[in-house]
Amino acid sequence: MKVIHALSVDLEEWYHSDLLIPHVRAGERVSQVREAVRPLIDLLHRAGVRATFFTVGEVARDHPDLIQELATTGHEIACHTMTHPNLWRLTPEKFRDELEQYREAMERAVSGQEVLGFRAPMFSLDRRTHWVLGELRDAGFRYDSSVVPVRTPWYGVRGAPLGVYRASLEDPGRTDDEAGFLEFPLTACSLGRLRIPAAGGVYLRLLPYPVFRMLLRRVARQRPFVIYVHPWETYPGTPTCPLPFVERLGLYTNIRHTLARLERLLSEFRFAPVREVLDL
Ligand SMILES: [Zn+2]
Repeated sequence: MKVIHALSVDLEEWYHSDLLIPHVRAGERVSQVREAVRPLIDLLHRAGVRATFFTVGEVARDHPDLIQELATTGHEIACHTMTHPNLWRLTPEKFRDELEQYREAMERAVSGQEVLGFRAPMFSLDRRTHWVLGELRDAGFRYDSSVVPVRTPWYGVRGAPLGVYRASLEDPGRTDDEAGFLEFPLTACSLGRLRIPAAGGVYLRLLPYPVFRMLLRRVARQRPFVIYVHPWETYPGTPTCPLPFVERLGLYTNIRHTLARLERLLSEFRFAPVREVLDL
């Protein structure tokens, strides 16, 4: 039988990215998530694929019917914080407050919804924010999927395991089979001494599709992988900001081709929500 991989959507607004905070004034933060995610949801339904939606609490608060639709059609709802802060800037107390507000917003949107999984905004769970894992455990979460096992200029945990592991609460890059917290790291492919990130999102958009698929096929021979996309990077109507070149390249390149690439991926690999791949 073919290995089943995890498909995830980080359900957030176009302005939630950390890179945009200095460039988008409060009055310009106009919601577009409903329009942006519709083609993506329709694609998943056509393909008969269910996913995990790591949802920002503000989206659940403002669009509860969207969350109800996702939950009743078999998608997994998981947590992407309340306001999408970079975790490096939070104290444990502020983080608890984010989780509390998220739970209240989610409870109002879908009463009794079980939330097992967490993803850090901007993949900001790393050695600086190792305390987050203990907080997640204490708050009743069962898994995290935030660690990028490659150090990049923006994020990443150098040397972290490539496959699912129990992460040490003191160092998310190390395993602790006894007391650790379940981690499904974002996908990276080993090529000799190199590790190439291939987790979806920017990599799905920037790498030529056959290269991206080749990386995933190599990983799939060893273990299940997890892929992510954001609604704003699959929707050509996403507002664009005048950003410096590298940020513009990372955020907006090939947006109009992302859904077609995702559709090819869905036909070439088998996918399920993260909790099912983890057998939770
Ligand atoms: Zn995010």
